[in-house]
Amino acid sequence: MDNELDRLLLPRPTHECGVFGIYGPEEDVARITYFGLYALQHRGQESAGIAVSNGKSIALHKNMGLVAEVFDDNIIDSLKGQIAIGHVRYSTTGSSLHANAQPMAFRYLQGMVSLAHNGNLTNASQLRQSLAANGSVFQTSTDTEVIINLIARYGQSSIVESIMKCMIDIKGAYSLVVMTEDKLIGVRDPFGVRPLCIGKLNDAYVLASESCALDTVGAKLIRDVEPGEIVIIDKNGLQSKRAVSSERQATCIFEYIYFARPDSIIDHQGVTEARRAMGRQLAKESPVEADLVISVPDSGTAPAKGYAEEIGLPFEEGLMKNRYIGRTFIQPTQEMREVGVRLKLNAIRSIVEGKRIIMVDDSIVRGTTSSKIVKMLREAGAKEVHMLVSSPPVKYPCYYGIDTSQREELIAVTHGVDEIRKYIGADSLHYLSLEGMLSVMNSPPSKFCAACFSGDYAIEVEKTCCGKSALEYDH
Ligand code: AMP
Repeated sequence: MDNELDRLLLPRPTHECGVFGIYGPEEDVARITYFGLYALQHRGQESAGIAVSNGKSIALHKNMGLVAEVFDDNIIDSLKGQIAIGHVRYSTTGSSLHANAQPMAFRYLQGMVSLAHNGNLTNASQLRQSLAANGSVFQTSTDTEVIINLIARYGQSSIVESIMKCMIDIKGAYSLVVMTEDKLIGVRDPFGVRPLCIGKLNDAYVLASESCALDTVGAKLIRDVEPGEIVIIDKNGLQSKRAVSSERQATCIFEYIYFARPDSIIDHQGVTEARRAMGRQLAKESPVEADLVISVPDSGTAPAKGYAEEIGLPFEEGLMKNRYIGRTFIQPTQEMREVGVRLKLNAIRSIVEGKRIIMVDDSIVRGTTSSKIVKMLREAGAKEVHMLVSSPPVKYPCYYGIDTSQREELIAVTHGVDEIRKYIGADSLHYLSLEGMLSVMNSPPSKFCAACFSGDYAIEVEKTCCGKSALEYDH
């Protein structure tokens, strides 16, 4: 294997993404998809794309950049049709390549298909090797192309049957929107790791990673796609098929902690409510004596309010966030990430000066953010800074599509709680317990994947996935 082929066959970018789809013969489907993607921008800022079917062919526009940078009125106007799918991509460890942008479109035995994917397959390298050995060619380093090749390989069957066969082969996390010339199809993996919901807009059906995108385009949330379910939307309405039986649901708890937008509802549970309840639980487990509670905006705000409510202290906005800066993780190097924190947040002296502060954030991953903010608060005159984290220590990498980074970079792997406290410079540090966190959710603990905290991976990970497999680490 030469190096280029090696790169294509082995390491793959981990990515969290957002997907959107609409079947709406009466609607301006490209424009609605544009607004849907805008609402999902927090799920990916690297590239954006929209594919549209006019019943005969599929047109596609995608590029690197934010939704508003990739599209303008002329481009949207040129994308005419009755069905559309869209994608925003968040690549973390992989190369930032135009070729990896989605949706992807291809022609196979049954016609044209376009596909957009959120999640990570855990056996993609294996499948890629075996497909390549049988003559498949790859242009990108994404899992999505593996799915495309499998669908094409089963191309003697209908698209729905091909997807069902493909679902037997692929393992891992995938929420997909698939479009043919006349159908919109939504697929959620048997563990339901990543979210995917269904909405209705007049007579049109909409699929989206998060319900906030349905709200934005004026669609009503009907329900979530069930784990292992395929929904097929065409001129006959919506049909549902169960492709693979689901041993257990394992929806990513990190979606609720950090990733999803607070106004989204995933599997009947509001994200804000979950975060607030985590904050209240944290206050029950770790009450700290102080003058006021502040949050690290935005994902720390709901748990901070919950904490303040429970403990009976005022919640104040002690940190100002620059609204025009994206999530700091999108910057590739550690150095850039540190600058990113300072660009993004500043302490409000009049609020924190002379005060004993409880600062609530949703998570500590590498410890970079918290150490910068604690320093900032002290420089602004805070008398004490207590760091309260509304999730447990992140100790294990995620193989299912969230960038919790390499295990060596996770501060809780190499440092105990008191060492982390020293590293970030806080007067005290308290994490929410795993049991406490899961106990506040509407569904039982067994329905969530919390592997980044517990090391208990619901879906087995192949050896070469992301360099090292979970099984190589001692838990
Ligand atoms: P760190 O600085 O590495 O400790 O990162 C923790 C901060 O990043 C917290 O403020 C979180 O809200 C945020 N965060 C947690 N997980 C992620 C993620 N996967 N991508 C981007 N930001 C994250």
